[in-house]
Parts: sequence; structure tokens; C-alpha cells
Amino acid sequence: VKWHARAALVDGVEGVAEDVLLETEGDRLVRVTAGVMRPADATPLNGFTIPGLANAHSHAFHRALRGQAQAPGDFWEWRRRMYELAARLDPDRYYALARACFAEMVVAGVTAVGEFHYLHHGPGGVRYDDPNAMGHAVIAAAAEAGVRLTLLDSCYLRSGFDSEPLDPVQQRFSDGDADAWAARVEALEARDQLLIGAAIHSVRAVDPKGMEKVARAARGRRLHLHLSEQPAEVSGCLAATGRTPAQLAADVGALARTTTAVHATHVTNGDLALLAASGTGVCLCPTTERDLGDGIGPAVRLAAAGVALSLGSDSQAVVDLFEEARAVELDERLAHGRRGLLPPAFLLGAATAAGSDALGWGTGQLAPGGLADFTTIGLGSVRLAGARTADLVTHAVYAAAAPDVSDVVVGGRVVVRDGCHVTIPDVPAALAAALRALEDR
Ligand SMILES: [Zn+2]
Repeated sequence: VKWHARAALVDGVEGVAEDVLLETEGDRLVRVTAGVMRPADATPLNGFTIPGLANAHSHAFHRALRGQAQAPGDFWEWRRRMYELAARLDPDRYYALARACFAEMVVAGVTAVGEFHYLHHGPGGVRYDDPNAMGHAVIAAAAEAGVRLTLLDSCYLRSGFDSEPLDPVQQRFSDGDADAWAARVEALEARDQLLIGAAIHSVRAVDPKGMEKVARAARGRRLHLHLSEQPAEVSGCLAATGRTPAQLAADVGALARTTTAVHATHVTNGDLALLAASGTGVCLCPTTERDLGDGIGPAVRLAAAGVALSLGSDSQAVVDLFEEARAVELDERLAHGRRGLLPPAFLLGAATAAGSDALGWGTGQLAPGGLADFTTIGLGSVRLAGARTADLVTHAVYAAAAPDVSDVVVGGRVVVRDGCHVTIPDVPAALAAALRALEDR
């Protein structure tokens, strides 16, 4: 199958290549050739084609909090509202909401998503007939939406460092112990466009012994964990263990080349050194971090230490990877009083290649042998009108928005054409229906 991109970001080509022929076989790219006229049998991609956007950190059900949780308070008050929502979900509602939310991502150019999944069980922690009913709902939702999924099944065992009992909503997150978590996850099978990864919810929610077990069980898979999102998590961890969350994660063997730490907002230089030395990547979620008042992700320090940075929409306050990419730099400008701290190509790489790697899908480049996952940014909107080819990477990062995405191909299959999802033609209606269903208790 042939595609012809007017402009594209091609592996090994400096800057933006023009007139690029992308040839696919099955789910892979087999040839990528710049500077050729469009053959008659090639589908035109009018705009700027980039490797598929990778959303490395998502909680699909948080989509229902958008516009509903803008109230005074801190992170912990927001979490109370999130728990109220979680209490209303069952596998059917979860499926409908995740399907619509993933479709929103797909039309925003996302080709791969990492769903950090922790709502496993029924009310009061009662097991569904299928103990993975919720995970299977997420898997079915992603397949319907046409997005590649890494299901990061999260272990969650305790309410915090003080070992108070789990509240009723948290009981839905818990498998009881790490062995039971591992046994349940073992029953989930990877397939086409699906990888099963593991997650430690946080150093709050899993005790050190449990973390060690999860890290061991996760070998050969991607492992993600929330790390140092809130100052209270860091101080609580220090008080309980004498170690920072990153030190604790390192000591239990949870930091590795295949690990992604999500947030890493409040990290010491020692923490940075541990992340860098282990090859652990960091996923920043700046639109969520600003929404929750978490703090500014230390992207400049992380990048300087050589830590790979990926991006995530996390709470779905915003689903727009271009916005995440520029927010990484713009938030740091506010903190540093300087501009141009991270190059646009680096930021676009965080939204594409680094995310693909963090989710276990490979290099995320337009190159022979790579996955045929790509996203075309249309250049016809008021935001991008007049953009010159040489400046397209900068425009993508600083001016593009999710509605500019015109075409999305995942594994060689068209999922978005001319801005429309090909199998879910009315994504807003799907979202509205899924959200309305949650209003009945
Ligand atoms: Zn999260």
C-alpha cells in the first residue's frame, strides 16, 4: 500500500523531507523514499506527516471529570471527586467511556496509548466473574477506537504509608496482594495492537515487598509507576522509609531501561542520577500537572541528565499531544525566565518516538521496518496557514492543535481520514452518550 506525504518527518533525513512515498506491507513500513512525485496508486497525505503520536499515560475514565472537577482545593480534593466517579463505573460503562475517550485521542492523532489501569474489581472489591472484566473492557474499547494499546495493569494494595484500611473505592483497585495481582495479569494476553504491561500505582499504594514482586513479574514487559507527583507523597515516603520515592523504587529493583516514571515532578539531584543511571524514562503530563497544581515537571534537568521524556494526557483535562509538547517547554520558561530550553524536534520526539518506546512499540520513526503508524497534520487551519516547510516542526509544537489532525494510520490501517474517524463517525456523540450514562447511579 502506498501513501504520498507532501512533507514528512523521516528518520535519517535532516529537517523536513518533501514528497515522501511511504510504502507499507501489513502493519509495517517497508520503504520510505523522499523526493518522489506521487504515483497514481498512492493515497495523498496533504499536510505534514509525522510518526504517530504516542500518549504514554492515560486514565481513560478520568475523561468524565472534565469540567466537573474544577473546584477549589488541592490534588487530594480532586482525588475525592475522581473516587466518586470510579464508584459509578462498571464494565459496560467503562467500555463505552473508554471507547469514546480513545476515539477522541485517535482523532487527535494518537496511534498508541498507555492505559494506566487500576480500577479492576466490582464495588467493595468483589471480583467480577471474569476477574479482568474491566481490563477486557479497556482492551475492547481500544480495539474499537483503532488505537494501539499498552495496558499497564496497575498493582494497588494500600491507602498510604500509614497502612490505614482501603476505603470502599480503593478496594476496587486492590487484588489483596502482589501475588494475586500477578496471577490476574498473567491471564491477560497480548495480541495484534495490544501489549500487556505492568504498573506500580505509586510508592504510596504498594509496599516495598509488593513493589519488588511487581518489578520481578514485570520483567520482559513495560513497567510504569507514578513517581513524586505531589510533595506530600515525597515527605510521606521519607518519613515512612527514610528514602525518596525514586530511592525506594531503585532499591526494590523497579527502575530499569524498560521502566517509565510518570510525573517525577518533585525529584532531587540524587533521584535524577538514579533515573538516568538505570535508563528509566519519565513521562510528563503537563496539562494534568498544571490542572492539579502538581508543580512544573523538571524537563530541563531531566533532559540534561539524559533521561528520555515521553508525554501523556493522564487525566484527559486536555487531549492534545501538541499542547503537552509545548507545555513542557513553556512551563519551564516560566520557571527559568529563559526561552528555547528544549529544541522543538526534541519536544516532538517526546510526543512520538519516546512515547512509542515507553509503551514497548519500538522506535516510533518513519523508517523501513518500523510500524506503519503515522499522523498527518493538515496545514489549512488559521493556526497553521502560511507555515513554511522548513519550520513545520516548530509549527507542529508551538501552533498546531488536535483539530488540525487530518489523517491517522495505525498498523497500516486508516483510522482517521480528512479529520473523521472511519468507524466512529460521530465521536462527540459517543462521548456525550458515555458521559450521560454515568449520571444514572
Ligand atoms: Zn496518572
